Amino acid sequence: MATKRDYYEILGVDKKASADEIKSAYRKLAMQYHPDRNKAPDAEEKFKEMSEAYAVLEDQTKRQQYDQFGHAGIDQRYSQEDIFRGAAPDIEDILKGFGFGGGGGRGGGIFDSFFSGGGGRREGPGRGSDMLYELAIEFEEAASGKKVNLEYPRNETCDVCKGSGAKPGTSPKTCTTCRGTGQVSRAQNTPFGRFMTTSTCGTCRGAGNVIDSPCTTCHGSGIVQKKRKLEVKIPPGVDSGSRLRVSGEGEAGQKGGPPGDLYVELYVKPHKIFTRHENDVVMEASISFAQAALGDEIHVPTLDGKASMKIPAGTQNGHVFRLRGKGFPSLHGSGKGDELVKVKVEVPTKLNEKQKQLLKEFAEISGEKIKSKGFFGIM
Ligand SMILES: [Zn+2]
Ligand SMILES: [Zn+2]
Repeated sequence: MATKRDYYEILGVDKKASADEIKSAYRKLAMQYHPDRNKAPDAEEKFKEMSEAYAVLEDQTKRQQYDQFGHAGIDQRYSQEDIFRGAAPDIEDILKGFGFGGGGGRGGGIFDSFFSGGGGRREGPGRGSDMLYELAIEFEEAASGKKVNLEYPRNETCDVCKGSGAKPGTSPKTCTTCRGTGQVSRAQNTPFGRFMTTSTCGTCRGAGNVIDSPCTTCHGSGIVQKKRKLEVKIPPGVDSGSRLRVSGEGEAGQKGGPPGDLYVELYVKPHKIFTRHENDVVMEASISFAQAALGDEIHVPTLDGKASMKIPAGTQNGHVFRLRGKGFPSLHGSGKGDELVKVKVEVPTKLNEKQKQLLKEFAEISGEKIKSKGFFGIM
């Protein structure tokens, strides 16, 4: 927020100005900058500013506080906007003093029609709310995709009254107060000219129509809560946090407005063997010392069944083998990730005499001298 200008300066009066001088200064400026007369882009801002200054200075108590403490002395609840909208206590008196006429009601005074495009909010058709459904799926299902049947409560348009809210056989009547527009306008003569005041119709609360005999099923709201059953296709390749948007499956709209959307947010359960790294599946496979040394062919689990994998002779502990295309399909575009198999060479923990003997021989042939009983301390 920019630094606030001095209230006296805004109104162009001396600090010792009398109440009458302040009033007359404001009157002059208001005539000049009233947005209905002055179309300069900063006129509205200036008008707000001077209205705030006047609201403070015309009040003896507030003026004293302002003189003593400056802007900090003024109750900030009455911000410019509040004063502008008529929420500050004095504003209607100020306006009356200028022939704006009272009775506009707090908050709904003439300013609304000038600056907010006329009238209050209309309770007309509105888009329904979006909904979020959290769904847990298995690791494999994230890779293969899945059809799931969802069942969830949501607001739907009432079948009995077709959303009108009126008892079948009757229909909502056009509001006679506002003739269906949802807004009421009133002409006011002021020193600045003739103004039209527009506000939300109190009879129909902006809907434009009134229901004499409400539908008994939905009690006039046009909306009922129902269980929605829906089949949703989870595409292959999703991950935790993926969100699917199902268009139009959220809550029904108000008064015939379009429905919201349903979002299905996925949580992929962890797997006993696999972890996921982007679109690759990662796992660890144990092989024996002999398999690592001599080479072998082993079977490893993949997302779609077992696959055979060659272990070349001389494979080292921790080596990572790549099974191409055995990972997750890409959610965006084509291609698949791989499966990465990290081998762990198991060192036997229990050896019988024969095994020990053979390994000793093996060590000797390799030119090693094994002193301790534990072979593997030296590996
Ligand atoms: Zn109904
Ligand atoms: Zn009305």
